[in-house]
Amino acid sequence: MIRRIVAALAALGLGACAARVAPPTPSVPAAPVEIQVLAFNDFHGNLQTPDPVEVAELDGARHKIVTGGVAHLAAALSELRAGHANTVTVSAGDTIGASPLISANYLDEPTIAAMNLLGLEFNSVGNHEFDRGGDELKRMQAGGCAKFTRRKPCAVEPFAGARFRYLAANVVQADGSTIFPATGLKRFDTPAGAITIGFIGMTLKGTASLVTPSGVKGLSFKDEAETANALVPRLKAHGADTIVLLIHQGGKLPKFTTGNGCEGLYGEILPILGKLDPAITTIVSGHTHWAYVCRGTPQVGAGRLLTSAGKYGYFATDVRLRFDPASHRLLSQDARNIVVGNGEHGEDASEKALVDRYASAVTPIASRCPAPRGSTG
Ligand SMILES: [Zn+2]
Repeated sequence: MIRRIVAALAALGLGACAARVAPPTPSVPAAPVEIQVLAFNDFHGNLQTPDPVEVAELDGARHKIVTGGVAHLAAALSELRAGHANTVTVSAGDTIGASPLISANYLDEPTIAAMNLLGLEFNSVGNHEFDRGGDELKRMQAGGCAKFTRRKPCAVEPFAGARFRYLAANVVQADGSTIFPATGLKRFDTPAGAITIGFIGMTLKGTASLVTPSGVKGLSFKDEAETANALVPRLKAHGADTIVLLIHQGGKLPKFTTGNGCEGLYGEILPILGKLDPAITTIVSGHTHWAYVCRGTPQVGAGRLLTSAGKYGYFATDVRLRFDPASHRLLSQDARNIVVGNGEHGEDASEKALVDRYASAVTPIASRCPAPRGSTG
């Protein structure tokens, strides 16, 4: 009805003023809507800030930085989110497993609690998520104190489970279903219109060869690109304006960078990237423990972004996606890795309280048995 009236008025106006038509005013495009994706990977239960880490810059200069620790990580993420209404926090796997005693001794329950506190929303599984088997991993999601391992669950406090969503698109159980949902959607209602991001989460297809057979009993791990591409139509049908892949597989670099380089990237992620549907525009990777940001290089694909935040919460990746709210088209994207801690971010008080609680619980145990640690992705 309104459209008809507008059309009628327009026709009238044209008729009455045909001799002095105003020059057409170019339509002003709406300001882009920016969505922030904060990402990290391979946290491996590193709740405490380690001794200062020595880093080497590209020019060979070496210096030590204080980095990592979940209280620093949470504070850094809060700082990055400040002023951003449209933000989501994600992880690309190995959040738990191969963790220091403070987390491992408590079946990584404190790490799940710490991830809840820092606002994690989607977490792809990695190989180490399966270290204690599928049933125990399901307990990480659902909570509760059922015993699936030698260790006693809920030894310090009740365990509520993850408030974030595990995603496992390529991990298939005997009945053909995936162990966790394959995908997640997040819709941002902005004043200019809604933008929806689709997420696909997965681990590397070689996971079964990296985990003890009991950990992956009854599970099969499917090809990464084939699995991801098959999910694209479904996500689009559910309104995804672009698709972010959280994949626990990654690349390596020939030289150290401070986390924002990509030159000479090589590794197992590359053949996967070459096969991905172009609708998957943004890839948050992991597993190799290298930090990088790759922007539209020939290997990564034009307009595509590939990131990794190294390991242990030493880095956080701040990804920005800019959309045209009218067409819902992704206009541009970029990312940067920031060093967590390093005197620049404070400590989150509730994370610190959680870490202190488990640190005092583990102290008598730690003095009896030195912490087993170390991980190769
Ligand atoms: Zn891994």
